[in-house]
Order: sequence, then structure tokens, then C-alpha cells
Amino acid sequence: SHESPDSDALGSMLALASLLESMGKKVSLYCSDCVPAFLRFLPGSEKISSELSGDFDALVVLDCPVPSRAGDGFEKYAASCGTKMMIIDHHKEQPFPGAVKWVETGAPATAMMVYEVFKELDAQITPAAAVCIYAAISGDTGSFRFSNATSESFSVAAEMVSLGADPEQISSAIYENQSLERMELLARVLATLKTDKTGKVGWVRIDREMFESTRTTREDSEGMVDLPMSVRGVRVALLFRQERDGDKLFWKASIRSRGDIDVSEVASMFGGGGHKNAAGFTFECGTDEALERILKAVDGR
Ligand code: 5GP
Ligand code: MN
Repeated sequence: SHESPDSDALGSMLALASLLESMGKKVSLYCSDCVPAFLRFLPGSEKISSELSGDFDALVVLDCPVPSRAGDGFEKYAASCGTKMMIIDHHKEQPFPGAVKWVETGAPATAMMVYEVFKELDAQITPAAAVCIYAAISGDTGSFRFSNATSESFSVAAEMVSLGADPEQISSAIYENQSLERMELLARVLATLKTDKTGKVGWVRIDREMFESTRTTREDSEGMVDLPMSVRGVRVALLFRQERDGDKLFWKASIRSRGDIDVSEVASMFGGGGHKNAAGFTFECGTDEALERILKAVDGR
């Protein structure tokens, strides 16, 4: 699945793995980044490795629309191994050379598609797989708050609860399990909150110093892009996060929107991508310069 994994990336991978194992298949689980602390409660997550090696009959890539989103290691491996590759995904379709694709942009989560595979094969969903599918749907629908919180997403979630997923335990594992360092970072990030003059676009930023002085990492900034959306009137929210690659410093932007505003179009102007309401991109210029272009792009949408 994709780098800096979320609950859908890992949940759909783990649920599919449990299905394949129940059919007697040998499965290896790979993600270029290690499992973030808030997802270590996912049953089986300890089996996910960030080392890709071995010979496989097939590669199944979940919740990841382009090879590069699965990390450099995977991209090189996939290009050279010649193994059959299948994509199961709900992002806007992008080129994935050499792969058989099943892409449903209308699916609230990739895990909903994995659920369909269970149903198609008439396979038993174990309590562990139910936890993974529930966590994935809950994660990708923003705890059932976003426009993709369809009645199907509630139906499948309800079925997962009846099969052993405990909503209180899962939400507590994700949301009531934060380090004090992360809360200190949150305080610093909230202090950067600004909106444009229309009040429609809001943003926060995190530079390297903020991570360093609070002893936090990228992983601790998970979800902070949603902070500006809490402000009345804000329809587009951004998080600018400074990252380092060797000596090179650059910015990663996460962008979210409500309703019809398509932020994947804004992201693609910077060479990034994503969904209508959640997208991302990287850039090397300053954040003021990027903001100017972003505000212009959002204006009139
Ligand atoms: P996030 O802001 O959580 O990192 O990403 C939100 C969504 O935007 C992801 O699900 C992914 O589809 C997309 N996305 C984020 N960063 C990038 C990027 O650099 N390139 C592309 N193509 N998509 C991205
Ligand atoms: Mn997803």
C-alpha cells in the first residue's frame, strides 16, 4: 500500500491478507513506511514489513494509485520483477504500468472493495478482519463525517460491528492514544492558523524547528490538516509540512475541501494528486509563494 499509510491502506491490506491466508495462500505484507503508532492496534499489523524481498506469484497493491506512492523501493521492484500485479483502489485513476486494475472512485474506502471480494467468494470475515475493515471505513470517511459516508459505508460498518469490531475500542485506540509531545506540537500548529481574506481558505504550517523542539515527527502531524476546517466558513484547508530529504528541505502540502471544490485539480497543478476532497503535493518554493498560487487556483471554485 501507499507510503505514510492510513487506516484504509493498512486495514484493506490486512483484511485481504486474512482472506488469502484462509484460502491457503502464502502472503507477505509490505509498506515502505513502518506502521504508525496509532495503527498498531490493527490485528496482524506486526506482520507488515518495510523490506521488500522474495519471489512472488502476484503483487496486489491496495489504496495506491501510482507506483511512486508506494515508495521508491517498491517502484524499482515493480519495474524490474515482472511479477503479475493487480491494483485495488478508489483514488482517481493514474498510470500504473503493467498492472491489472480495479478502480472504483465511488468507493468510500478501498476496504469496501475488499469487503466485496469476501462477499463474492462467500468467505468468512473473522473478527480481526472486521476490525481492519471497520477502521479503514471509519478512517477514510473521517469517522463517518465526510460526503463519502454513504449508507453503504454505514451498512458495511454495522456488519463489521456485528462480526466483532468494537467502535469504542477502535476510536479510543486511534484518537485517545496521543503522546504529550504530539499535543505540544498541536499547540504550536494551532498558533499558525490563518485564513485568506474571503475566509474560505484556511491553513496551518509546521516547519522543521517545530518538529525538533517538540521531539515529534511527520507521523505526529497526522490529521492536523483538518484543523482549519473547524473554522466557520472555511471550505478549503491546508497543512504545509516541511520535510527533509538528505540535505534538501522541501514542503509537503495536504489539502482538504468540502462539497464540490475539487482540490485534486489544485494539487495536480503542482504535480501532485488525490481525490476531489483530499489531495496532496510537494513543492520547493516558499510557502508564501505557493499560497499565492493556491489562493488563485481556489478562487472562483
Ligand atoms: P495526505 O494529505 O493525507 O498526505 O494525502 C491525501 C490524499 O492526497 C492521498 O490519499 C493521496 O491520494 C493524495 N496525495 C497526497 N500527496 C500526494 C502526492 O504527493 N502526489 C499524489 N499524486 N497524490 C498525493
Ligand atoms: Mn483509501
